[in-house]
Amino acid sequence: MTRRILIAGNWKMNTRRRDAAALAKGVVDGIPKECAVEIALCPPSVYLGTVSECVVGSPVGLGGQNLYAAADGAFTGEVNAGMLTDIGCSYVILGHSERRQLMGETDADVSKKLHAALAGNLIPIVCVGETQEQRENNETEQVVSDQLKGSLAGLDEARAAGIVIAYEPVWAIGTGLTASPDQAEAVHAFIRGILTDDFGEDVAGQIRLQYGGSVKPGNAAELLGQKNIDGALVGGASLKAEDFLGIINAV
Ligand code: PGA
Repeated sequence: MTRRILIAGNWKMNTRRRDAAALAKGVVDGIPKECAVEIALCPPSVYLGTVSECVVGSPVGLGGQNLYAAADGAFTGEVNAGMLTDIGCSYVILGHSERRQLMGETDADVSKKLHAALAGNLIPIVCVGETQEQRENNETEQVVSDQLKGSLAGLDEARAAGIVIAYEPVWAIGTGLTASPDQAEAVHAFIRGILTDDFGEDVAGQIRLQYGGSVKPGNAAELLGQKNIDGALVGGASLKAEDFLGIINAV
Protein backbone atom coordinates (compact mmCIF):
# COMPACT_ATOMS: atom_id res chain seq x y z
CA MET A 1 0.00 0.00 0.00
CA THR A 2 1.56 3.29 -1.06
CA ARG A 3 0.37 6.33 0.79
CA ARG A 4 1.22 9.77 -0.57
CA ILE A 5 3.22 11.81 1.91
CA LEU A 6 1.32 14.86 3.20
CA ILE A 7 3.27 17.78 4.66
CA ALA A 8 0.96 20.37 6.20
CA GLY A 9 1.92 23.68 7.77
CA ASN A 10 -0.11 24.69 10.80
CA TRP A 11 0.51 28.40 11.13
CA LYS A 12 -1.61 28.58 14.30
CA MET A 13 -2.35 32.19 15.40
CA ASN A 14 0.60 33.74 13.58
CA THR A 15 1.33 36.14 10.72
CA ARG A 16 -0.27 39.32 9.46
CA ARG A 17 -1.75 39.56 5.97
CA ARG A 18 1.49 40.65 4.30
CA ASP A 19 3.57 37.94 6.00
CA ALA A 20 0.94 35.35 5.16
CA ALA A 21 1.09 36.28 1.47
CA ALA A 22 4.88 36.37 1.43
CA LEU A 23 5.15 33.03 3.22
CA ALA A 24 2.63 31.35 0.91
CA LYS A 25 4.38 32.76 -2.18
CA GLY A 26 7.73 31.64 -0.82
CA VAL A 27 6.44 28.09 -0.48
CA VAL A 28 4.75 28.06 -3.90
CA ASP A 29 7.86 29.44 -5.62
CA GLY A 30 10.20 27.09 -3.79
CA ILE A 31 8.58 23.70 -4.21
CA PRO A 32 10.61 21.29 -6.30
CA LYS A 33 9.42 20.80 -9.90
CA GLU A 34 8.35 17.19 -9.80
CA CYS A 35 7.19 17.14 -6.23
CA ALA A 36 5.78 13.78 -5.17
CA VAL A 37 4.76 15.16 -1.80
CA GLU A 38 1.30 16.61 -1.11
CA ILE A 39 1.54 20.01 0.54
CA ALA A 40 -1.00 22.05 2.50
CA LEU A 41 -0.89 25.40 4.26
CA CYS A 42 -3.25 26.10 7.15
CA PRO A 43 -3.20 29.82 7.91
CA PRO A 44 -5.44 31.65 10.41
CA SER A 45 -8.98 31.78 9.05
CA VAL A 46 -8.92 35.54 8.41
CA TYR A 47 -6.02 35.02 6.00
CA LEU A 48 -7.42 32.02 4.13
CA GLY A 49 -8.56 34.29 1.29
CA THR A 50 -5.14 35.92 1.00
CA VAL A 51 -3.31 32.59 0.99
CA SER A 52 -5.88 31.06 -1.34
CA GLU A 53 -5.01 33.70 -3.96
CA CYS A 54 -1.31 32.90 -3.57
CA VAL A 55 -1.64 29.12 -3.97
CA VAL A 56 -4.35 28.96 -6.64
CA GLY A 57 -3.12 27.04 -9.70
CA SER A 58 -0.17 25.61 -7.75
CA PRO A 59 0.19 22.14 -6.21
CA VAL A 60 -0.05 23.71 -2.74
CA GLY A 61 -3.35 23.02 -1.00
CA LEU A 62 -5.16 25.06 1.61
CA GLY A 63 -6.58 24.02 4.96
CA GLY A 64 -8.49 25.48 7.89
CA GLN A 65 -7.36 25.04 11.50
CA ASN A 66 -10.83 24.30 12.84
CA LEU A 67 -14.50 24.41 11.87
CA TYR A 68 -17.86 24.65 13.53
CA ALA A 69 -20.09 21.66 12.88
CA ALA A 70 -23.28 23.38 11.76
CA ALA A 71 -24.89 24.82 8.66
CA ASP A 72 -25.05 28.62 8.26
CA GLY A 73 -26.90 30.35 11.04
CA ALA A 74 -26.67 32.17 14.34
CA PHE A 75 -23.21 31.03 15.50
CA THR A 76 -21.29 34.23 16.21
CA GLY A 77 -17.57 33.96 15.60
CA GLU A 78 -17.64 30.58 13.90
CA VAL A 79 -16.71 29.28 10.44
CA ASN A 80 -18.24 26.16 8.88
CA ALA A 81 -17.14 23.58 6.31
CA GLY A 82 -19.06 25.25 3.47
CA MET A 83 -17.15 28.49 4.09
CA LEU A 84 -13.81 26.69 4.15
CA THR A 85 -14.40 24.95 0.81
CA ASP A 86 -15.79 28.18 -0.65
CA ILE A 87 -12.52 29.99 0.11
CA GLY A 88 -10.49 27.16 -1.44
CA CYS A 89 -9.76 24.73 1.38
CA SER A 90 -9.36 21.01 0.81
CA TYR A 91 -8.24 20.17 4.37
CA VAL A 92 -9.13 21.02 7.93
CA ILE A 93 -7.20 20.34 11.13
CA LEU A 94 -9.45 18.98 13.88
CA GLY A 95 -8.91 18.36 17.58
CA HIS A 96 -5.47 19.92 17.82
CA SER A 97 -4.15 19.57 21.39
CA GLU A 98 -4.19 23.35 21.79
CA ARG A 99 -7.93 23.36 21.07
CA ARG A 100 -8.46 20.38 23.35
CA GLN A 101 -6.50 22.04 26.18
CA LEU A 102 -7.35 25.73 25.76
CA MET A 103 -10.87 25.59 24.32
CA GLY A 104 -11.97 22.41 26.07
CA GLU A 105 -12.67 20.49 22.89
CA THR A 106 -13.72 16.92 23.60
CA ASP A 107 -13.56 13.78 21.49
CA ALA A 108 -17.33 14.13 20.97
CA ASP A 109 -16.81 17.65 19.58
CA VAL A 110 -14.07 16.37 17.29
CA SER A 111 -16.33 13.59 16.04
CA LYS A 112 -19.08 16.09 15.14
CA LYS A 113 -16.53 18.22 13.32
CA LEU A 114 -15.17 15.19 11.50
CA HIS A 115 -18.59 14.34 10.11
CA ALA A 116 -19.20 17.97 9.14
CA ALA A 117 -15.82 18.08 7.38
CA LEU A 118 -16.49 14.90 5.41
CA ALA A 119 -20.00 16.01 4.49
CA GLY A 120 -18.41 19.22 3.19
CA ASN A 121 -15.79 17.34 1.14
CA LEU A 122 -12.87 18.42 3.30
CA ILE A 123 -10.02 16.08 4.21
CA PRO A 124 -9.95 16.06 8.00
CA ILE A 125 -6.60 15.94 9.81
CA VAL A 126 -7.57 14.56 13.21
CA CYS A 127 -5.00 15.20 15.94
CA VAL A 128 -4.32 12.89 18.87
CA GLY A 129 -1.48 12.69 21.38
CA GLU A 130 -0.52 12.30 25.01
CA THR A 131 0.91 14.79 27.48
CA GLN A 132 4.28 14.38 29.14
CA GLU A 133 2.63 13.25 32.37
CA GLN A 134 0.54 10.66 30.54
CA ARG A 135 3.65 9.31 28.81
CA GLU A 136 5.52 9.09 32.10
CA ASN A 137 2.57 7.18 33.60
CA ASN A 138 2.65 4.73 30.67
CA GLU A 139 -0.77 5.91 29.54
CA THR A 140 0.19 6.82 25.97
CA GLU A 141 -1.59 3.90 24.30
CA GLN A 142 -4.72 4.27 26.41
CA VAL A 143 -4.95 8.03 25.77
CA VAL A 144 -4.32 7.74 22.05
CA SER A 145 -6.74 4.85 21.72
CA ASP A 146 -9.50 6.71 23.63
CA GLN A 147 -8.99 9.89 21.59
CA LEU A 148 -9.00 7.93 18.36
CA LYS A 149 -12.12 5.93 19.13
CA GLY A 150 -13.98 8.99 20.45
CA SER A 151 -12.95 11.28 17.62
CA LEU A 152 -13.75 8.74 14.90
CA ALA A 153 -17.07 7.63 16.43
CA GLY A 154 -19.68 6.87 13.80
CA LEU A 155 -17.19 6.88 10.92
CA ASP A 156 -17.85 4.22 8.29
CA GLU A 157 -15.27 2.29 6.27
CA ALA A 158 -16.17 4.02 3.03
CA ARG A 159 -15.18 7.41 4.41
CA ALA A 160 -12.41 6.35 6.75
CA ALA A 161 -9.87 5.76 3.99
CA GLY A 162 -9.77 9.46 3.11
CA ILE A 163 -9.05 10.85 6.55
CA VAL A 164 -5.66 11.81 7.96
CA ILE A 165 -4.59 11.22 11.56
CA ALA A 166 -1.87 13.37 13.09
CA TYR A 167 -0.06 11.88 16.08
CA GLU A 168 1.24 14.84 18.01
CA PRO A 169 2.70 14.12 21.43
CA VAL A 170 1.83 17.24 23.42
CA TRP A 171 5.26 17.26 25.07
CA ALA A 172 6.89 17.62 21.65
CA ILE A 173 4.76 20.51 20.37
CA GLY A 174 6.64 23.78 20.18
CA THR A 175 9.13 22.56 22.78
CA GLY A 176 12.02 21.58 20.52
CA LEU A 177 11.68 18.06 21.94
CA THR A 178 10.90 15.54 19.23
CA ALA A 179 9.75 11.99 19.64
CA SER A 180 12.56 9.77 18.42
CA PRO A 181 11.78 7.99 15.14
CA ASP A 182 11.37 4.75 17.15
CA GLN A 183 9.06 6.36 19.69
CA ALA A 184 6.94 7.94 16.96
CA GLU A 185 6.83 4.78 14.85
CA ALA A 186 5.74 2.70 17.85
CA VAL A 187 2.68 4.91 18.38
CA HIS A 188 1.97 5.12 14.64
CA ALA A 189 2.04 1.32 14.38
CA PHE A 190 -0.27 1.16 17.41
CA ILE A 191 -2.68 3.60 15.71
CA ARG A 192 -2.55 1.60 12.48
CA GLY A 193 -3.46 -1.49 14.53
CA ILE A 194 -6.54 0.21 16.01
CA LEU A 195 -7.60 1.40 12.57
CA THR A 196 -7.15 -2.14 11.24
CA ASP A 197 -9.39 -3.52 13.99
CA ASP A 198 -12.03 -0.87 13.29
CA PHE A 199 -11.98 -0.57 9.51
CA GLY A 200 -10.12 -3.61 8.18
CA GLU A 201 -6.64 -3.93 6.76
CA ASP A 202 -7.37 -2.47 3.35
CA VAL A 203 -8.92 0.77 4.62
CA ALA A 204 -6.44 1.12 7.50
CA GLY A 205 -3.63 0.75 4.98
CA GLN A 206 -4.90 3.77 3.08
CA ILE A 207 -5.23 6.15 6.05
CA ARG A 208 -2.33 8.55 6.25
CA LEU A 209 -0.70 9.04 9.64
CA GLN A 210 1.22 12.27 10.12
CA TYR A 211 3.67 12.95 12.92
CA GLY A 212 3.71 16.40 14.53
CA GLY A 213 5.89 17.92 17.22
CA SER A 214 8.99 19.99 16.50
CA VAL A 215 9.47 18.61 13.00
CA LYS A 216 12.27 20.49 11.24
CA PRO A 217 14.49 20.02 8.18
CA GLY A 218 17.09 18.21 10.28
CA ASN A 219 14.81 15.48 11.66
CA ALA A 220 12.18 15.14 8.91
CA ALA A 221 13.93 12.51 6.79
CA GLU A 222 14.45 10.09 9.65
CA LEU A 223 10.91 10.50 11.02
CA LEU A 224 9.32 10.19 7.59
CA GLY A 225 11.48 7.19 6.80
CA GLN A 226 9.47 5.14 9.30
CA LYS A 227 7.05 2.56 7.94
CA ASN A 228 3.89 4.07 9.39
CA ILE A 229 4.75 7.76 9.20
CA ASP A 230 3.12 9.22 6.10
CA GLY A 231 3.65 12.91 6.57
CA ALA A 232 4.16 15.73 9.02
CA LEU A 233 2.03 18.40 10.64
CA VAL A 234 4.47 21.23 11.09
CA GLY A 235 3.99 24.20 13.42
CA GLY A 236 6.96 26.46 14.14
CA ALA A 237 9.03 25.37 11.14
CA SER A 238 6.13 26.14 8.78
CA LEU A 239 6.45 29.86 9.54
CA LYS A 240 9.61 30.22 7.46
CA ALA A 241 9.39 29.19 3.81
CA GLU A 242 13.01 28.05 3.92
CA ASP A 243 12.40 25.66 6.83
CA PHE A 244 9.12 24.34 5.48
CA LEU A 245 10.70 23.74 2.07
CA GLY A 246 13.65 22.13 3.83
CA ILE A 247 11.25 19.58 5.32
CA ILE A 248 9.63 18.93 1.92
CA ASN A 249 13.04 18.52 0.31
CA ALA A 250 14.21 16.17 3.05
CA VAL A 251 11.46 13.70 2.23
P1 PGA B 1 5.47 22.41 16.28
O1 PGA B 1 3.87 22.29 16.25
O2 PGA B 1 5.97 21.91 14.96
O3 PGA B 1 5.75 23.86 16.50
O4 PGA B 1 5.95 21.55 17.42
C1 PGA B 1 3.23 21.20 15.66
C2 PGA B 1 1.75 21.34 15.80
O5 PGA B 1 1.28 21.78 16.86
O6 PGA B 1 0.99 21.01 14.86
